[in-house]
Amino acid sequence: MSRFLALFSLTVFALSLLTALRWRVMSRLLGGLALQYRLHHKLGLITGVAFTLHVLAEILQTPPDFIQDLIITRDPPLLAGWAAILLFCVALVFSYRQTLRFQSWRLWHFLFPLAFLAASYHGLVFARDDAWDQGLLYTALSMGGLSLGFLLLGHIWNPRAQRYRIQALDKVSASVWELTLEPKDRRRKQQPCRAGQIIYLRFLSRGFSRALHPFSVASCRLEPYLRLYIKNLGRDTSHLQDLKSGHEVEVLGPFVELKLNLDRPQIWIGGGIGIAPFLGFLHCTQTLDTPPIHILHYVSRGEDIIQGSEIARVQETTPHLVWHNMVDKKGHRPDWERLDALLKSLSKPRIVICGPNLFMRMLREHLKGQGVSSQDITTEEFNP
Ligand SMILES: Cc1cc2nc3c(=O)[nH]c(=O)nc-3n(C[C@H](O)[C@H](O)[C@H](O)COP(=O)(O)OP(=O)(O)OC[C@H]3O[C@@H](n4cnc5c(N)ncnc54)[C@H](O)[C@@H]3O)c2cc1C
Repeated sequence: MSRFLALFSLTVFALSLLTALRWRVMSRLLGGLALQYRLHHKLGLITGVAFTLHVLAEILQTPPDFIQDLIITRDPPLLAGWAAILLFCVALVFSYRQTLRFQSWRLWHFLFPLAFLAASYHGLVFARDDAWDQGLLYTALSMGGLSLGFLLLGHIWNPRAQRYRIQALDKVSASVWELTLEPKDRRRKQQPCRAGQIIYLRFLSRGFSRALHPFSVASCRLEPYLRLYIKNLGRDTSHLQDLKSGHEVEVLGPFVELKLNLDRPQIWIGGGIGIAPFLGFLHCTQTLDTPPIHILHYVSRGEDIIQGSEIARVQETTPHLVWHNMVDKKGHRPDWERLDALLKSLSKPRIVICGPNLFMRMLREHLKGQGVSSQDITTEEFNP
């Protein structure tokens, strides 16, 4: 039993590393990046449980006089096993701490590769020699090892990324920029990006980090440009004014995220920069005969209301669109009065929400309280 649990946990661990990769084919097969990452989280939890059961099974089958030797040991492969469990559990606990800042969350995540390496060494020494065990062990080790390699390589080089040039950069509110990108080489077949999809972008200009940033696509498939709305938030996004026309960026993706079903009246709710995919959808629905669309954009300051000539044109020309700007003070609960009035006046609307974690949680709770079925709610969280 303990042997089976050990091999099982190593295999699931390798699968969780595999599902951390940003591969378009895999994310499409799994129903989108959000669902892929949900599976990645579940596989992580299953690995944790299997590791714990493996340890318990080992302790149960060890004669009582040897248990102390098992725990207080100097044997390197055994120590590696303990290190793997410890590193894995610490990383798992910190991965689920919702209050953690993104950078700290990412640092704690680096413990997972170390745990995998320690568990691999432990497995290589203790696995039995029969073909079945060895086959499973080497499959798990190759899958996990290759996934780790690709994950680390992705930080510096990505052969599937496409180069774009900055065509325009406009400020559309006190904290949001509209970034328009054109493919660097139009002769090369570019992957068309649809509104609501996610791309990962790396700024290549001097003074920017090599980090890949997820952004929602806010342009349509047939437009010649890729448009993004980017909030001035941190290390890279706080100095977008340093970017110049003609500078290059690297784009990975697109990945499927939000999909619309326009068969019924729509309420689209964006918290802060969560409005980005909706701006994209609006560009695409201009030529369609759509049901009524109500957009509620929640911001914490008046100057965060999105403006700009292109946005004003879209707001005016999209059929059946009503746009509501909602200014709520930071730290205060958003005012749902307008939303409740819409819920009463529209017949079985579809609700699409996008925004920060806390905003989405409060909104989902409120909608549940108003008797809205979860089947009528589609969400996209701006969480890693
Ligand atoms: C699915 C998804 C879609 C997003 N779409 C948009 C969008 O359309 N427009 C937009 O302005 N922002 C969007 N974001 C958030 C955006 O990725 C971050 O604001 C950006 O990466 C910050 O980079 P930075 O170097 O300036 O910030 P940093 O200094 O690195 O971090 C500042 C804060 O930004 C957030 N952040 C940083 N990196 C990430 C990351 N890889 N994933 C999630 N959050 C991160 C964290 O809250 C962090 O505390 C999206 C995030 C996700 C997960």
